[in-house]
Amino acid sequence: MLDNLGNLERTHSCGDLRSADIGKQVVLMGWVAKRRDFGELTFIDLRDRAGITQVVFNAEDAPDAHAKAKELRNEYVIAVMGDVVARDENTRNPKLATGDVEVHARQLLTLNDARTPPFQLDAGPEALAAEDLRLKYRYLDLRRPQLQANLHLRHRVVNEIRRYMTAQGFTEIETPILIKSTPEGARDYIVPSRIFPGKFFALPQSPQLFKQLCMIGGLDKYFQIAHCFRDEDLRADRQPEFTQLDVEISFATLDQVYGLIEGLFASVFKLINVELPVPFPRFTFAEVMGRFGSDKPDLRIQGLELKDLAKAPLDAVALAERLRSGGQEIKGMVVPGGASLPRRTLDELQEFAKRYAASALPWIKLGDETSSSLKWLGEDALHGIANVAGAQKGDAVLIVSGKSKVVAASLGALRNEIAKRENLIPANVYAPLWVTDFPMFEFHEEDGRYYSMHHPFTSPVDEDLELLERAVEGGETNQLGQIRTKAYDPVINGVEMASGSIRIHRRDVQRLVFKALGMSTEEARERFGFFLDALEYGTPPHGGIAPGIDRLMMVLAGTDNMRDVIAFPKTASAADLMIDAPGEVDPKQLEELHLRVVSD
Ligand code: ASP
Repeated sequence: MLDNLGNLERTHSCGDLRSADIGKQVVLMGWVAKRRDFGELTFIDLRDRAGITQVVFNAEDAPDAHAKAKELRNEYVIAVMGDVVARDENTRNPKLATGDVEVHARQLLTLNDARTPPFQLDAGPEALAAEDLRLKYRYLDLRRPQLQANLHLRHRVVNEIRRYMTAQGFTEIETPILIKSTPEGARDYIVPSRIFPGKFFALPQSPQLFKQLCMIGGLDKYFQIAHCFRDEDLRADRQPEFTQLDVEISFATLDQVYGLIEGLFASVFKLINVELPVPFPRFTFAEVMGRFGSDKPDLRIQGLELKDLAKAPLDAVALAERLRSGGQEIKGMVVPGGASLPRRTLDELQEFAKRYAASALPWIKLGDETSSSLKWLGEDALHGIANVAGAQKGDAVLIVSGKSKVVAASLGALRNEIAKRENLIPANVYAPLWVTDFPMFEFHEEDGRYYSMHHPFTSPVDEDLELLERAVEGGETNQLGQIRTKAYDPVINGVEMASGSIRIHRRDVQRLVFKALGMSTEEARERFGFFLDALEYGTPPHGGIAPGIDRLMMVLAGTDNMRDVIAFPKTASAADLMIDAPGEVDPKQLEELHLRVVSD
Protein backbone atom coordinates (compact mmCIF):
# COMPACT_ATOMS: atom_id res chain seq x y z
CA MET A 1 0.00 0.00 0.00
CA LEU A 2 1.40 3.36 -0.98
CA ASP A 3 0.98 6.45 1.16
CA ASN A 4 -0.14 9.90 0.07
CA LEU A 5 2.11 12.90 0.39
CA GLY A 6 -0.82 15.08 1.50
CA ASN A 7 0.42 18.44 2.71
CA LEU A 8 3.65 17.16 4.16
CA GLU A 9 6.67 19.28 3.25
CA ARG A 10 10.38 18.67 3.57
CA THR A 11 12.17 20.55 6.31
CA HIS A 12 15.63 19.79 4.94
CA SER A 13 17.31 18.22 1.95
CA CYS A 14 19.25 14.97 2.30
CA GLY A 15 22.51 16.92 2.15
CA ASP A 16 21.70 19.51 4.82
CA LEU A 17 21.97 18.00 8.26
CA ARG A 18 25.03 18.65 10.45
CA SER A 19 25.93 18.35 14.15
CA ALA A 20 24.29 21.75 14.75
CA ASP A 21 20.94 20.16 13.84
CA ILE A 22 21.12 17.48 16.52
CA GLY A 23 17.85 17.39 18.44
CA LYS A 24 15.72 18.77 15.63
CA GLN A 25 12.67 17.00 14.31
CA VAL A 26 12.95 16.80 10.55
CA VAL A 27 11.08 15.64 7.49
CA LEU A 28 13.24 14.28 4.64
CA MET A 29 12.14 12.90 1.29
CA GLY A 30 14.03 11.08 -1.39
CA TRP A 31 15.02 7.76 -2.91
CA VAL A 32 16.25 4.66 -1.10
CA ALA A 33 19.88 4.42 -2.22
CA LYS A 34 20.70 1.47 0.02
CA ARG A 35 19.00 -0.61 2.69
CA ARG A 36 20.84 -2.64 5.33
CA ASP A 37 18.75 -4.89 7.50
CA PHE A 38 20.10 -5.94 10.91
CA GLY A 39 16.90 -7.39 12.39
CA GLU A 40 15.91 -4.93 15.08
CA LEU A 41 17.65 -2.12 13.21
CA THR A 42 17.22 -1.19 9.56
CA PHE A 43 19.47 1.43 7.97
CA ILE A 44 18.50 3.38 4.88
CA ASP A 45 20.72 5.67 2.86
CA LEU A 46 18.23 8.30 1.75
CA ARG A 47 19.26 10.22 -1.37
CA ASP A 48 18.10 13.39 -3.06
CA ARG A 49 19.90 15.86 -5.31
CA ALA A 50 21.71 17.42 -2.35
CA GLY A 51 23.23 14.31 -0.87
CA ILE A 52 22.66 11.28 1.34
CA THR A 53 21.44 11.01 4.91
CA GLN A 54 21.48 7.84 6.98
CA VAL A 55 18.07 6.98 8.44
CA VAL A 56 17.70 4.41 11.20
CA PHE A 57 14.52 2.43 11.88
CA ASN A 58 14.43 0.88 15.35
CA ALA A 59 11.93 -1.92 16.03
CA GLU A 60 11.63 -0.89 19.68
CA ASP A 61 11.20 2.90 19.29
CA ALA A 62 9.07 2.96 16.13
CA PRO A 63 7.69 -0.52 15.45
CA ASP A 64 5.32 0.53 12.63
CA ALA A 65 7.93 2.48 10.72
CA HIS A 66 10.44 -0.32 11.26
CA ALA A 67 8.03 -2.91 9.90
CA LYS A 68 7.34 -0.79 6.84
CA ALA A 69 11.04 -0.14 6.26
CA LYS A 70 11.55 -3.88 5.83
CA GLU A 71 9.52 -3.67 2.63
CA LEU A 72 11.61 -0.92 1.10
CA ARG A 73 13.80 -1.64 -1.91
CA ASN A 74 16.31 0.45 -3.82
CA GLU A 75 14.83 3.50 -5.57
CA TYR A 76 11.56 3.44 -3.60
CA VAL A 77 10.47 7.00 -2.91
CA ILE A 78 9.84 7.75 0.74
CA ALA A 79 9.20 10.46 3.31
CA VAL A 80 10.71 10.11 6.76
CA MET A 81 9.81 12.01 9.90
CA GLY A 82 12.30 11.69 12.69
CA ASP A 83 14.92 13.14 15.02
CA VAL A 84 18.45 14.21 14.19
CA VAL A 85 20.84 12.27 16.43
CA ALA A 86 24.64 12.28 16.73
CA ARG A 87 26.27 9.16 15.34
CA ASP A 88 28.50 7.13 17.66
CA GLU A 89 32.13 8.17 17.36
CA ASN A 90 33.06 4.94 15.55
CA THR A 91 30.16 5.03 13.08
CA ARG A 92 30.76 8.57 11.77
CA ASN A 93 31.28 8.70 8.04
CA PRO A 94 33.73 11.42 7.02
CA LYS A 95 33.00 10.71 3.33
CA LEU A 96 29.45 12.04 3.71
CA ALA A 97 28.74 15.72 4.35
CA THR A 98 25.98 14.56 6.71
CA GLY A 99 28.18 11.78 8.13
CA ASP A 100 28.26 13.07 11.74
CA VAL A 101 24.53 12.58 12.22
CA GLU A 102 21.67 10.24 11.40
CA VAL A 103 17.92 10.50 11.54
CA HIS A 104 16.05 8.18 13.88
CA ALA A 105 12.76 7.64 12.09
CA ARG A 106 9.45 7.89 13.89
CA GLN A 107 7.26 7.63 10.85
CA LEU A 108 7.69 6.44 7.28
CA LEU A 109 5.57 7.17 4.22
CA THR A 110 6.17 4.99 1.18
CA LEU A 111 5.30 7.39 -1.62
CA ASN A 112 6.17 5.12 -4.50
CA ASP A 113 7.73 1.80 -5.27
CA ALA A 114 10.22 1.09 -8.06
CA ARG A 115 11.24 -1.76 -10.29
CA THR A 116 14.78 -2.98 -9.81
CA PRO A 117 16.90 -0.59 -11.91
CA PRO A 118 18.55 -2.23 -14.93
CA PHE A 119 21.95 -1.11 -13.68
CA GLN A 120 23.58 -0.19 -10.41
CA LEU A 121 23.26 3.52 -9.72
CA ASP A 122 26.02 3.79 -7.14
CA ALA A 123 28.72 1.97 -9.11
CA GLY A 124 32.10 3.71 -9.20
CA PRO A 125 33.45 5.08 -12.49
CA GLU A 126 35.27 1.82 -13.26
CA ALA A 127 32.16 -0.32 -12.75
CA LEU A 128 29.62 1.81 -14.62
CA ALA A 129 27.14 -0.09 -16.77
CA ALA A 130 27.47 0.15 -20.57
CA GLU A 131 26.67 3.65 -21.75
CA ASP A 132 23.97 2.53 -24.21
CA LEU A 133 22.03 0.95 -21.37
CA ARG A 134 22.42 4.08 -19.26
CA LEU A 135 21.28 6.25 -22.17
CA LYS A 136 18.17 4.13 -22.65
CA TYR A 137 17.31 4.71 -18.99
CA ARG A 138 18.74 8.23 -18.88
CA TYR A 139 16.24 9.29 -16.20
CA LEU A 140 17.85 6.72 -13.89
CA ASP A 141 21.39 7.58 -14.91
CA LEU A 142 20.59 11.21 -14.10
CA ARG A 143 20.11 10.19 -10.48
CA ARG A 144 23.83 9.45 -10.21
CA PRO A 145 25.54 12.15 -8.12
CA GLN A 146 28.18 12.77 -10.79
CA LEU A 147 25.66 13.65 -13.48
CA GLN A 148 23.66 15.68 -10.97
CA ALA A 149 26.78 17.64 -10.04
CA ASN A 150 27.59 18.28 -13.71
CA LEU A 151 24.11 19.59 -14.47
CA HIS A 152 23.97 21.80 -11.38
CA LEU A 153 27.38 23.19 -12.35
CA ARG A 154 26.10 23.77 -15.87
CA HIS A 155 23.26 25.83 -14.47
CA ARG A 156 25.69 27.94 -12.45
CA VAL A 157 27.91 28.42 -15.50
CA VAL A 158 25.02 29.56 -17.71
CA ASN A 159 23.85 31.87 -14.93
CA GLU A 160 27.32 33.36 -14.64
CA ILE A 161 27.50 33.82 -18.41
CA ARG A 162 24.21 35.71 -18.38
CA ARG A 163 25.32 37.83 -15.44
CA TYR A 164 28.67 38.66 -17.02
CA MET A 165 27.33 39.46 -20.47
CA THR A 166 24.57 41.62 -19.03
CA ALA A 167 27.10 43.50 -16.89
CA GLN A 168 29.15 44.12 -20.06
CA GLY A 169 26.15 45.79 -21.68
CA PHE A 170 24.93 42.91 -23.87
CA THR A 171 21.28 42.14 -24.60
CA GLU A 172 20.04 38.56 -24.91
CA ILE A 173 18.06 38.18 -28.11
CA GLU A 174 16.38 35.03 -29.38
CA THR A 175 16.68 34.16 -33.05
CA PRO A 176 14.49 31.69 -34.96
CA ILE A 177 15.01 27.95 -35.23
CA LEU A 178 13.13 27.40 -38.49
CA ILE A 179 15.39 29.20 -40.96
CA LYS A 180 17.32 28.88 -44.19
CA SER A 181 20.70 27.17 -44.35
CA THR A 182 23.57 28.92 -42.53
CA PRO A 183 26.86 27.52 -43.77
CA GLU A 184 29.14 26.42 -40.93
CA GLY A 185 30.65 23.51 -42.81
CA ALA A 186 28.21 20.79 -41.74
CA ARG A 187 25.09 19.26 -43.27
CA ASP A 188 21.78 20.90 -42.35
CA TYR A 189 18.94 19.28 -40.51
CA ILE A 190 15.94 20.18 -42.61
CA VAL A 191 12.23 20.46 -41.87
CA PRO A 192 9.67 20.04 -44.64
CA SER A 193 7.02 22.71 -45.03
CA ARG A 194 3.37 21.61 -45.02
CA ILE A 195 2.15 24.88 -46.48
CA PHE A 196 4.74 25.17 -49.25
CA PRO A 197 5.01 21.80 -51.02
CA GLY A 198 8.56 20.80 -51.83
CA LYS A 199 10.06 23.56 -49.67
CA PHE A 200 12.10 23.12 -46.53
CA PHE A 201 13.34 25.03 -43.54
CA ALA A 202 16.84 24.34 -42.25
CA LEU A 203 17.64 24.30 -38.54
CA PRO A 204 20.39 26.77 -37.64
CA GLN A 205 23.94 25.42 -37.69
CA SER A 206 24.43 28.67 -35.76
CA PRO A 207 22.55 31.98 -35.62
CA GLN A 208 25.41 33.54 -37.61
CA LEU A 209 23.45 35.61 -40.12
CA PHE A 210 20.81 36.61 -37.59
CA LYS A 211 23.38 37.95 -35.17
CA GLN A 212 24.96 39.92 -37.98
CA LEU A 213 21.51 41.21 -38.92
CA CYS A 214 21.09 42.27 -35.28
CA MET A 215 24.17 44.46 -35.77
CA ILE A 216 22.72 45.89 -38.98
CA GLY A 217 19.55 46.41 -36.94
CA GLY A 218 21.48 48.62 -34.55
CA LEU A 219 21.24 46.29 -31.52
CA ASP A 220 24.96 46.80 -30.94
CA LYS A 221 25.83 44.09 -28.39
CA TYR A 222 24.02 40.78 -28.78
CA PHE A 223 24.26 37.46 -27.03
CA GLN A 224 22.21 34.33 -26.87
CA ILE A 225 22.47 30.92 -25.25
CA ALA A 226 21.75 29.37 -28.60
CA HIS A 227 20.82 25.87 -29.65
CA CYS A 228 22.59 24.82 -32.86
CA PHE A 229 22.11 21.78 -35.09
CA ARG A 230 24.75 20.21 -37.30
CA ASP A 231 24.35 16.93 -39.11
CA GLU A 232 27.95 15.80 -39.18
CA ASP A 233 30.01 12.78 -38.31
CA LEU A 234 30.22 12.69 -34.58
CA ARG A 235 33.20 12.47 -32.27
CA ALA A 236 33.40 12.27 -28.51
CA ASP A 237 33.42 16.06 -28.29
CA ARG A 238 30.52 16.70 -30.69
CA GLN A 239 26.75 16.38 -30.54
CA PRO A 240 24.29 16.91 -33.42
CA GLU A 241 22.52 19.51 -31.31
CA PHE A 242 24.55 21.59 -28.97
CA THR A 243 24.52 24.89 -27.14
CA GLN A 244 26.76 27.85 -27.66
CA LEU A 245 27.06 31.30 -26.22
CA ASP A 246 26.57 33.31 -29.38
CA VAL A 247 28.02 36.83 -29.28
CA GLU A 248 28.19 39.74 -31.71
CA ILE A 249 29.52 43.27 -31.18
CA SER A 250 29.25 46.36 -33.36
CA PHE A 251 32.43 48.37 -34.06
CA ALA A 252 34.37 45.48 -32.52
CA THR A 253 38.15 45.42 -32.50
CA LEU A 254 40.17 42.25 -32.01
CA ASP A 255 41.39 43.44 -28.61
CA GLN A 256 37.84 44.14 -27.51
CA VAL A 257 36.72 40.59 -28.34
CA TYR A 258 39.79 39.05 -26.70
CA GLY A 259 39.29 41.10 -23.53
CA LEU A 260 35.58 40.26 -23.33
CA ILE A 261 36.13 36.51 -23.71
CA GLU A 262 39.16 36.34 -21.40
CA GLY A 263 37.06 38.05 -18.73
CA LEU A 264 34.18 35.68 -19.37
CA PHE A 265 36.29 32.54 -19.10
CA ALA A 266 38.09 33.92 -16.04
CA SER A 267 34.82 34.52 -14.24
CA VAL A 268 33.36 31.16 -15.23
CA PHE A 269 36.49 29.25 -14.18
CA LYS A 270 36.24 30.93 -10.77
CA LEU A 271 33.18 28.71 -10.26
CA ILE A 272 35.55 25.75 -10.04
CA ASN A 273 38.07 27.80 -8.03
CA VAL A 274 40.51 28.20 -10.89
CA GLU A 275 42.23 31.54 -11.53
CA LEU A 276 42.71 31.51 -15.25
CA PRO A 277 45.86 33.38 -16.31
CA VAL A 278 44.84 36.46 -18.35
CA PRO A 279 45.53 37.86 -20.88
CA PHE A 280 45.87 34.69 -22.94
CA PRO A 281 49.03 34.51 -25.06
CA ARG A 282 48.36 34.90 -28.80
CA PHE A 283 49.75 32.68 -31.51
CA THR A 284 49.06 32.84 -35.22
CA PHE A 285 47.70 29.77 -36.96
CA ALA A 286 50.95 29.48 -38.91
CA GLU A 287 52.96 29.45 -35.69
CA VAL A 288 50.90 26.82 -33.85
CA MET A 289 50.76 24.55 -36.88
CA GLY A 290 54.51 24.88 -37.32
CA ARG A 291 55.43 24.39 -33.66
CA PHE A 292 52.73 22.07 -32.35
CA GLY A 293 51.17 20.53 -35.46
CA SER A 294 47.71 21.56 -34.27
CA ASP A 295 45.41 24.57 -34.28
CA LYS A 296 44.41 23.64 -30.75
CA PRO A 297 47.70 22.92 -29.03
CA ASP A 298 47.78 21.77 -25.44
CA LEU A 299 50.16 24.26 -23.84
CA ARG A 300 50.24 22.30 -20.60
CA ILE A 301 52.72 20.09 -22.41
CA GLN A 302 56.19 21.59 -22.22
CA GLY A 303 58.42 21.02 -25.23
CA LEU A 304 57.60 18.19 -27.65
CA GLU A 305 57.64 20.80 -30.39
CA LEU A 306 57.97 20.04 -34.07
CA LYS A 307 61.35 20.80 -35.63
CA ASP A 308 61.93 21.32 -39.33
CA LEU A 309 64.52 18.73 -40.33
CA ALA A 310 64.85 19.96 -43.88
CA LYS A 311 67.31 22.37 -42.28
CA ALA A 312 69.57 19.48 -41.29
CA PRO A 313 73.16 19.61 -42.62
CA LEU A 314 73.93 18.50 -46.11
CA ASP A 315 74.18 14.77 -45.72
CA ALA A 316 70.93 14.85 -43.85
CA VAL A 317 69.34 16.73 -46.69
CA ALA A 318 70.06 13.65 -48.72
CA LEU A 319 67.97 11.85 -46.16
CA ALA A 320 65.20 14.36 -46.66
CA GLU A 321 65.22 13.60 -50.34
CA ARG A 322 64.93 9.89 -49.72
CA LEU A 323 62.30 10.20 -47.02
CA ARG A 324 60.26 12.72 -48.84
CA SER A 325 58.24 10.16 -50.77
CA GLY A 326 56.70 12.88 -52.86
CA GLY A 327 55.87 15.02 -49.86
CA GLN A 328 56.87 18.56 -49.11
CA GLU A 329 58.04 18.44 -45.51
CA ILE A 330 60.17 16.53 -43.08
CA LYS A 331 59.78 17.27 -39.41
CA GLY A 332 60.80 15.67 -36.19
CA MET A 333 59.95 15.80 -32.51
CA VAL A 334 62.29 15.17 -29.61
CA VAL A 335 61.04 12.88 -26.86
CA PRO A 336 63.09 13.77 -23.78
CA GLY A 337 64.55 10.59 -22.24
CA GLY A 338 63.10 8.71 -25.22
CA ALA A 339 66.28 6.69 -25.78
CA SER A 340 64.84 4.19 -23.33
CA LEU A 341 61.60 3.73 -25.29
CA PRO A 342 61.27 0.03 -26.09
CA ARG A 343 60.90 -1.10 -29.66
CA ARG A 344 57.31 -2.19 -28.95
CA THR A 345 56.35 1.35 -27.92
CA LEU A 346 57.97 2.81 -31.02
CA ASP A 347 55.98 0.34 -33.13
CA GLU A 348 52.79 1.36 -31.35
CA LEU A 349 53.57 5.02 -31.92
CA GLN A 350 54.17 4.28 -35.59
CA GLU A 351 50.75 2.59 -35.82
CA PHE A 352 49.26 5.62 -34.06
CA ALA A 353 50.92 8.01 -36.55
CA LYS A 354 49.62 5.96 -39.46
CA ARG A 355 46.06 6.72 -38.33
CA TYR A 356 46.86 10.30 -39.31
CA ALA A 357 48.10 9.16 -42.71
CA ALA A 358 51.84 9.19 -41.92
CA SER A 359 53.53 6.60 -44.11
CA ALA A 360 56.00 5.63 -41.36
CA LEU A 361 57.58 6.93 -38.18
CA PRO A 362 61.36 6.62 -38.45
CA TRP A 363 63.22 7.14 -35.16
CA ILE A 364 66.67 7.89 -33.80
CA LYS A 365 67.61 7.02 -30.21
CA LEU A 366 70.60 8.71 -28.63
CA GLY A 367 71.37 6.05 -26.02
CA ASP A 368 74.85 4.92 -25.01
CA GLU A 369 75.00 3.99 -28.62
CA THR A 370 73.01 5.67 -31.34
CA SER A 371 70.36 3.39 -32.77
CA SER A 372 67.85 4.14 -35.47
CA SER A 373 65.37 2.65 -37.87
CA LEU A 374 67.34 4.67 -40.42
CA LYS A 375 70.67 3.03 -39.64
CA TRP A 376 71.56 2.92 -43.33
CA LEU A 377 72.08 6.68 -43.24
CA GLY A 378 75.19 6.30 -41.14
CA GLU A 379 76.04 7.83 -37.74
CA ASP A 380 77.01 11.25 -39.06
CA ALA A 381 73.75 11.91 -40.80
CA LEU A 382 71.78 10.60 -37.81
CA HIS A 383 73.65 12.94 -35.47
CA GLY A 384 73.17 15.78 -37.91
CA ILE A 385 69.42 15.26 -37.82
CA ALA A 386 69.34 14.82 -34.05
CA ASN A 387 71.27 18.07 -33.69
CA VAL A 388 68.87 20.05 -35.84
CA ALA A 389 65.99 18.54 -33.87
CA GLY A 390 67.71 19.74 -30.69
CA ALA A 391 68.00 16.27 -29.14
CA GLN A 392 70.38 15.56 -26.26
CA LYS A 393 71.96 12.32 -25.19
CA GLY A 394 69.26 10.07 -23.75
CA ASP A 395 66.54 11.49 -26.06
CA ALA A 396 64.76 10.07 -29.07
CA VAL A 397 63.73 11.83 -32.28
CA LEU A 398 60.57 10.78 -34.09
CA ILE A 399 60.32 11.77 -37.73
CA VAL A 400 57.45 12.22 -40.19
CA SER A 401 57.75 13.27 -43.78
CA GLY A 402 55.13 13.92 -46.42
CA LYS A 403 52.51 16.52 -47.20
CA SER A 404 52.57 19.34 -44.69
CA LYS A 405 49.00 18.55 -43.56
CA VAL A 406 49.96 14.94 -42.80
CA VAL A 407 53.18 15.91 -41.04
CA ALA A 408 51.34 18.38 -38.82
CA ALA A 409 48.39 16.10 -38.10
CA SER A 410 50.46 13.06 -37.22
CA LEU A 411 53.16 14.81 -35.18
CA GLY A 412 50.50 17.01 -33.54
CA ALA A 413 48.53 13.95 -32.47
CA LEU A 414 51.73 12.17 -31.37
CA ARG A 415 52.57 15.15 -29.17
CA ASN A 416 49.37 14.64 -27.18
CA GLU A 417 49.69 10.86 -27.21
CA ILE A 418 53.28 10.82 -25.95
CA ALA A 419 52.48 13.41 -23.29
CA LYS A 420 49.63 11.20 -22.09
CA ARG A 421 51.68 7.99 -22.13
CA GLU A 422 54.68 9.56 -20.41
CA ASN A 423 52.58 11.51 -17.88
CA LEU A 424 53.84 14.86 -19.10
CA ILE A 425 50.51 16.67 -18.61
CA PRO A 426 50.43 18.36 -15.19
CA ALA A 427 47.18 18.05 -13.23
CA ASN A 428 45.12 21.10 -12.27
CA VAL A 429 46.86 23.38 -14.75
CA TYR A 430 44.85 25.42 -17.25
CA ALA A 431 46.79 26.72 -20.22
CA PRO A 432 44.76 29.09 -22.43
CA LEU A 433 45.83 30.77 -25.65
CA TRP A 434 44.37 32.52 -28.68
CA VAL A 435 44.99 31.14 -32.12
CA THR A 436 44.66 33.97 -34.65
CA ASP A 437 45.05 34.73 -38.36
CA PHE A 438 43.45 31.54 -39.64
CA PRO A 439 43.63 31.06 -43.40
CA MET A 440 40.49 32.19 -45.17
CA PHE A 441 40.18 29.15 -47.40
CA GLU A 442 41.29 25.55 -47.37
CA PHE A 443 41.60 23.42 -50.45
CA HIS A 444 39.78 20.08 -50.49
CA GLU A 445 41.47 17.62 -52.76
CA GLU A 446 38.41 15.35 -52.99
CA ASP A 447 36.51 17.84 -55.11
CA GLY A 448 39.35 20.16 -56.09
CA ARG A 449 37.89 23.37 -54.68
CA TYR A 450 38.32 25.86 -51.88
CA TYR A 451 36.09 25.98 -48.80
CA SER A 452 35.87 28.60 -46.05
CA MET A 453 37.97 27.54 -43.12
CA HIS A 454 35.67 29.35 -40.66
CA HIS A 455 32.59 30.54 -42.54
CA PRO A 456 32.12 32.82 -45.55
CA PHE A 457 31.36 35.92 -43.46
CA THR A 458 34.85 36.11 -41.96
CA SER A 459 36.86 39.22 -42.83
CA PRO A 460 40.33 38.96 -44.37
CA VAL A 461 43.09 40.81 -42.52
CA ASP A 462 43.33 44.33 -43.97
CA GLU A 463 46.73 43.61 -45.56
CA ASP A 464 45.33 40.63 -47.52
CA LEU A 465 42.26 42.31 -48.99
CA GLU A 466 44.16 43.20 -52.11
CA LEU A 467 45.37 39.62 -52.46
CA LEU A 468 41.76 38.45 -52.22
CA GLU A 469 40.79 40.80 -55.03
CA ARG A 470 43.68 39.61 -57.18
CA ALA A 471 42.99 35.97 -56.48
CA VAL A 472 39.30 36.24 -57.33
CA GLU A 473 39.17 38.89 -60.02
CA GLY A 474 42.68 38.56 -61.40
CA GLY A 475 42.49 34.78 -61.79
CA GLU A 476 45.29 34.08 -59.26
CA THR A 477 43.19 31.33 -57.72
CA ASN A 478 46.21 29.51 -56.34
CA GLN A 479 46.75 32.50 -54.02
CA LEU A 480 43.46 31.83 -52.18
CA GLY A 481 45.20 29.56 -49.67
CA GLN A 482 47.52 32.44 -48.66
CA ILE A 483 44.83 34.84 -47.49
CA ARG A 484 44.66 35.32 -43.74
CA THR A 485 41.57 36.29 -41.78
CA LYS A 486 40.61 38.10 -38.62
CA ALA A 487 39.41 34.80 -37.18
CA TYR A 488 40.35 33.65 -33.71
CA ASP A 489 39.84 30.62 -31.49
CA PRO A 490 40.48 30.55 -27.76
CA VAL A 491 41.96 27.17 -26.79
CA ILE A 492 42.32 25.79 -23.28
CA ASN A 493 44.26 22.58 -22.56
CA GLY A 494 44.04 21.45 -26.18
CA VAL A 495 40.28 22.05 -26.44
CA GLU A 496 38.89 24.58 -28.92
CA MET A 497 36.65 26.60 -26.63
CA ALA A 498 35.15 28.96 -29.22
CA SER A 499 35.40 30.24 -32.75
CA GLY A 500 34.85 33.72 -33.96
CA SER A 501 35.92 36.46 -36.28
CA ILE A 502 35.63 40.06 -37.29
CA ARG A 503 33.09 39.95 -40.12
CA ILE A 504 32.92 41.28 -43.61
CA HIS A 505 30.71 44.39 -43.48
CA ARG A 506 31.17 45.49 -47.09
CA ARG A 507 29.02 44.08 -49.82
CA ASP A 508 31.83 44.13 -52.42
CA VAL A 509 34.09 42.04 -50.19
CA GLN A 510 31.29 39.62 -49.36
CA ARG A 511 30.63 39.13 -53.07
CA LEU A 512 34.32 38.37 -53.67
CA VAL A 513 34.22 35.66 -51.02
CA PHE A 514 31.11 34.03 -52.45
CA LYS A 515 32.78 34.11 -55.85
CA ALA A 516 35.97 32.57 -54.47
CA LEU A 517 33.82 29.76 -53.10
CA GLY A 518 32.56 29.07 -56.59
CA MET A 519 29.12 30.57 -56.02
CA SER A 520 27.59 32.25 -59.05
CA THR A 521 25.90 35.63 -58.59
CA GLU A 522 22.52 33.92 -59.03
CA GLU A 523 23.32 31.27 -56.45
CA ALA A 524 24.60 33.85 -53.99
CA ARG A 525 21.40 35.85 -54.54
CA GLU A 526 19.23 32.78 -54.12
CA ARG A 527 20.87 31.71 -50.88
CA PHE A 528 21.90 34.99 -49.31
CA GLY A 529 20.03 37.70 -51.22
CA PHE A 530 18.40 39.02 -48.03
CA PHE A 531 21.80 39.36 -46.44
CA LEU A 532 23.51 40.97 -49.43
CA ASP A 533 20.64 43.46 -49.52
CA ALA A 534 21.01 44.18 -45.81
CA LEU A 535 24.73 44.89 -46.31
CA GLU A 536 23.71 47.83 -48.49
CA TYR A 537 21.91 49.70 -45.73
CA GLY A 538 24.72 50.99 -43.54
CA THR A 539 26.26 47.91 -41.95
CA PRO A 540 28.58 48.80 -39.09
CA PRO A 541 31.91 46.97 -38.82
CA HIS A 542 31.26 44.11 -36.41
CA GLY A 543 32.61 40.88 -35.07
CA GLY A 544 31.77 38.13 -32.67
CA ILE A 545 32.44 34.72 -31.32
CA ALA A 546 30.66 31.63 -30.06
CA PRO A 547 32.03 29.61 -27.14
CA GLY A 548 30.62 26.08 -27.08
CA ILE A 549 28.94 25.57 -23.74
CA ASP A 550 29.07 21.77 -23.88
CA ARG A 551 32.83 21.80 -24.53
CA LEU A 552 33.33 24.41 -21.83
CA MET A 553 31.41 22.18 -19.46
CA MET A 554 33.60 19.19 -20.34
CA VAL A 555 36.68 21.13 -19.30
CA LEU A 556 35.04 22.47 -16.13
CA ALA A 557 33.62 19.08 -15.12
CA GLY A 558 36.87 17.29 -16.03
CA THR A 559 35.31 14.74 -18.39
CA ASP A 560 36.19 13.79 -21.93
CA ASN A 561 32.68 12.60 -22.69
CA MET A 562 30.34 15.37 -23.83
CA ARG A 563 27.32 13.26 -22.90
CA ASP A 564 28.28 13.64 -19.24
CA VAL A 565 27.40 17.33 -19.31
CA ILE A 566 24.13 17.21 -21.28
CA ALA A 567 20.89 16.07 -19.66
CA PHE A 568 19.52 14.20 -22.67
CA PRO A 569 22.32 13.63 -25.17
CA LYS A 570 22.39 11.65 -28.37
CA THR A 571 24.63 8.69 -29.11
CA ALA A 572 27.64 8.78 -31.41
CA SER A 573 25.29 7.75 -34.23
CA ALA A 574 22.97 10.72 -33.51
CA ALA A 575 20.15 8.70 -31.97
CA ASP A 576 18.23 9.16 -28.75
CA LEU A 577 18.02 5.69 -27.24
CA MET A 578 15.53 6.69 -24.56
CA ILE A 579 12.80 8.17 -26.71
CA ASP A 580 13.86 6.00 -29.64
CA ALA A 581 14.41 8.85 -32.07
CA PRO A 582 14.67 9.30 -34.97
CA GLY A 583 11.52 7.27 -35.54
CA GLU A 584 9.01 6.65 -38.25
CA VAL A 585 6.04 8.97 -38.72
CA ASP A 586 2.45 8.36 -39.57
CA PRO A 587 1.89 8.03 -43.38
CA LYS A 588 -0.72 10.79 -43.01
CA GLN A 589 1.94 13.17 -41.72
CA LEU A 590 4.12 12.35 -44.71
CA GLU A 591 1.25 12.99 -47.04
CA GLU A 592 0.56 16.38 -45.46
CA LEU A 593 4.21 17.24 -45.94
CA HIS A 594 4.13 16.11 -49.55
CA LEU A 595 6.81 13.51 -48.85
CA ARG A 596 7.22 9.88 -49.85
CA VAL A 597 9.80 7.57 -48.31
CA VAL A 598 11.65 5.62 -50.97
CA SER A 599 13.34 2.55 -49.57
CA ASP A 600 16.35 1.21 -51.40
N1 ASP B 1 29.01 31.14 -36.02
C1 ASP B 1 30.29 30.62 -35.63
C2 ASP B 1 30.16 29.20 -35.13
O1 ASP B 1 29.08 28.81 -34.71
C3 ASP B 1 30.93 31.40 -34.54
C4 ASP B 1 31.17 32.81 -34.88
O2 ASP B 1 31.81 33.07 -35.90
O3 ASP B 1 30.75 33.64 -34.09
O4 ASP B 1 31.14 28.46 -35.10
